[in-house]
Amino acid sequence: MSTAINETMIRDVVEEVLGRLGGGAPARPVPTSPASAQPAPLAPAAATTPRRGGRRFGVFTDADEACAAAHEAYLQLSERGVAGRNQVVRIVKDLCDARAEEWGRLELDETRIGRLDHKIEKLKGQRGIPGVEFLQPYALSGDHGITLEEYAPFGVIGAVTPSTHSIPTMACNIISMAAAGNAAVFNAHPGAYRCAVQAARVFNEAIHRELGIENLACILEPPTLESFAALSKNEHVKVLCVTGGPGVVKAAMQSGKRAICAGPGNPPVLVDGTSCLDNAARCVVLGGAYDNNLLCIGEKEVYVLEPFIDRFMAALEKHGSVRLTDPQVERLRQAAFVFPPGQGAGCPHAVVNRELVGRDPAVLGQAAGINVPAGTQLLFAETGADDLFVEEEQMMPFLPIVRVKSVEEGIALAKKAEQGYKHSAMIHSHDVAHMTAMAKALETTLFIKNGACVAGLGNGGEGYSNFSIATTTGEGICNPRTFTRVRRCVMVDKLRIF
Ligand code: NAD
Repeated sequence: MSTAINETMIRDVVEEVLGRLGGGAPARPVPTSPASAQPAPLAPAAATTPRRGGRRFGVFTDADEACAAAHEAYLQLSERGVAGRNQVVRIVKDLCDARAEEWGRLELDETRIGRLDHKIEKLKGQRGIPGVEFLQPYALSGDHGITLEEYAPFGVIGAVTPSTHSIPTMACNIISMAAAGNAAVFNAHPGAYRCAVQAARVFNEAIHRELGIENLACILEPPTLESFAALSKNEHVKVLCVTGGPGVVKAAMQSGKRAICAGPGNPPVLVDGTSCLDNAARCVVLGGAYDNNLLCIGEKEVYVLEPFIDRFMAALEKHGSVRLTDPQVERLRQAAFVFPPGQGAGCPHAVVNRELVGRDPAVLGQAAGINVPAGTQLLFAETGADDLFVEEEQMMPFLPIVRVKSVEEGIALAKKAEQGYKHSAMIHSHDVAHMTAMAKALETTLFIKNGACVAGLGNGGEGYSNFSIATTTGEGICNPRTFTRVRRCVMVDKLRIF
């Protein structure tokens, strides 16, 4: 028996062992403040990424190198056919399931926003992301033969992910993009990229082990505004997919590349009293408290018809929420918003204080001057319709409840608060006329009736899930078809079989 050990075998063993050691980025200090989670200042890019066992497994400091590697991986994936895409989808889903607790904690430790139980659920929920089966070709058959329209890949997609769900957004993007035959290069949020780098490396190592493709889901380390600009300009990147607030949407739209933009929201809820108030309150608590209200689809402000508001607020308390008094809301408001000088046209412009974004109700309670009981899901209070908590997408587990005199007034105020993002809205009602009127007025991408916001993503309602909801550019909840170009193949006068 031959015992010859060649250089390649040794390298593979070393890679395997290093891979099992966790694939972590070198330990670095975690940012002490979510304020530091802003896009980093223009940082000089390091020259090279340290290679693991001579390999990169998707982690790059240089955007152009990452794009070239991703392009090579795209060509390799094309060679593996549909079976190869299915393998990638399964690998990413299995890893998210197996590592949900580890990666959920990693992300929470880095970002310090949200809740561990929901971070775990968001990773386990990757099972519900559609894969290759979503791509059904469109066929035509007639006197002039047959025609097939197919959903073909773009090649390399440049993706930007938010601080609010870093690994989950990257994972579902990889699933959707690879199911459609693409490779990706990610520019994560500067305050949430270390966890994403670790996960990306693990994904690529596993994909490499099974398919021999090393850089299918590349990620830039560290992500900067410069690396985003380089990504946007690279010739291999055919499409951008950005998930985040107004800044990144604007930057993507101005990049010159086609952009799929999953932008901001400020989802309103209307409670008209015709349906079960207890269910409405339960749903509002479930959705508004989810990951401490970090979800872009999450309930952000609630309009309730006057005769029902007291019973509705009592039901909120029953479902684990704590009501704040007016002075407590005022203290919280002072802490939750800052007014940087020089912004606004002559008058100060409110900006959400990132120190309180996604923090636990107990932290918000302290800011409001109250100790809330352990296990509190949400804080709430009755406010005016023009309150900052209503107008701003504040992403905190505090909900303003607004009293309205009519459904018409509630719809008009909800439309104003939604700011034309056309993102998400909820109604609790058994009156189809009210439902129809609100849906028509707000024109949101997601409109959920008698459920929590998460029902719109298949959690308690019918439908598939994704953490990128292309509201601004209109593709809707992203799925493999979002990342395809349609190609038509025509056979003239033949192949129709009857
Ligand atoms: P953010 O806008 O601060 O950052 C999002 C991403 O964009 C980050 O990677 C950031 O580094 C990058 N970015 C920001 N400004 C940029 C610029 N000028 N150029 C290039 N890149 C830039 O948002 P966040 O706090 O991380 O996430 C919360 C926001 O994202 C909320 O507005 C929320 O509604 C939205 N969001 C939307 C969806 C959706 O599917 N529609 C999903 C999640 C989050």
